[in-house]
Amino acid sequence: ASAEEKKASKAQPAAEGEASGVWVIVEYINGNISQVSWELLGEGRKLADALGTELCAIVTGYQVDHVVTEAFAYGAEKVYVVDNPILKDYRTEPYADAIVDLSRKYKPEIILCGATSMGRDVFPAVATQLQTGLTADCTVLEIDPETRLFKMTRPAFGGNIMATIQCRTHRPQMSTVRPRVMAMPERVEGREGIIVREEVALNEADYRTKVVEFIAATAKSAFLDKAEIIVAVGLGIGSQKNMVIAEELADAIGGTIAGTRGAVESGWLSHDQQVGQTGVTVRPKVYIALGISGAIQHLVGMQTSDYIIAVNSDPEAAIFTVANYGIVGDLFQVVPALTAEFKER
Ligand code: FAD
Repeated sequence: ASAEEKKASKAQPAAEGEASGVWVIVEYINGNISQVSWELLGEGRKLADALGTELCAIVTGYQVDHVVTEAFAYGAEKVYVVDNPILKDYRTEPYADAIVDLSRKYKPEIILCGATSMGRDVFPAVATQLQTGLTADCTVLEIDPETRLFKMTRPAFGGNIMATIQCRTHRPQMSTVRPRVMAMPERVEGREGIIVREEVALNEADYRTKVVEFIAATAKSAFLDKAEIIVAVGLGIGSQKNMVIAEELADAIGGTIAGTRGAVESGWLSHDQQVGQTGVTVRPKVYIALGISGAIQHLVGMQTSDYIIAVNSDPEAAIFTVANYGIVGDLFQVVPALTAEFKER
């Protein structure tokens, strides 16, 4: 549709009764599929089952057949595909247009997307065009078994309370979810489903942005959300020069260094190493927290780690409420002892 036609076609929010299906936007940028897309298919499966509706994946891009195959492997029953050279590089406007066109045509009940750079960019544009609500950065999604209402829970007021939000009158109900919050579903090789190929009319002349060059991030954080062992430091480490204590432990066990906002604001770590509400969400096998108090804004970014080991001199520190193993003690004594022990093994 041209810009004029788009303006003219005022979105009518789908009435509750006529909307159906749980949709997951698959994020495919520069040849990489974001893992959160599969985490959301796992979560979407539960929602679709609770509503008795179908689970669909939305794949937008150029030459994306292999992405469709993966979407089936991770549990989509149906995949809507918009394969168009205009979608070769991610840009807000054509991506939003493709999702909006599909939504107007097929009227999903729920649409989910990762709270990634792309999701945080495209989803507000989609919600605005569809004239519906959007709950960003959800940590819990559920269907009320009595009312069948979609309940989206997210931290509010700086993470001090959890707010559960419902979108009672408008459809679709839209939420973004942070990577690593939901568990990965099982991948079943060769699973098949229905492919719906859509010819959405996208016109290059309508778009104001062009991708000139793509420069990949080189920062350490690019790997933080994939790290299996994380050694995280808080203000308890005291100074930049003491960081060596944490680094030696990380070296001994193949860990990646991360930390709290306090450690970042002190200049000991870069922002992309920050774990928590305003940083990265991580889910490693082992998370070792050194001198971290356990503020809620930090816990929301790491509490789903498989094993949490905390070292803190304060026995009342909140980090111990989520720790599998807690060591009450001075980290300057405990950590070198741990490092020496790991090195021996
Ligand atoms: P502190 O709370 O000061 O804790 C230091 C801990 O070290 C204490 O528990 C102390 O007992 C212990 N300690 C001191 N000396 C030793 C020693 N020698 N040996 C052992 N233990 C010792 N924080 C984040 O981390 N990530 C976020 O994304 C984030 N986002 C935020 C968003 C908002 C809107 C707001 C309001 C806050 C946010 N915060 C975030 C900040 C958060 O509230 C806390 O202030 C921060 O996490 C505290 O960092 P900390 O644990 O390093 O420091």
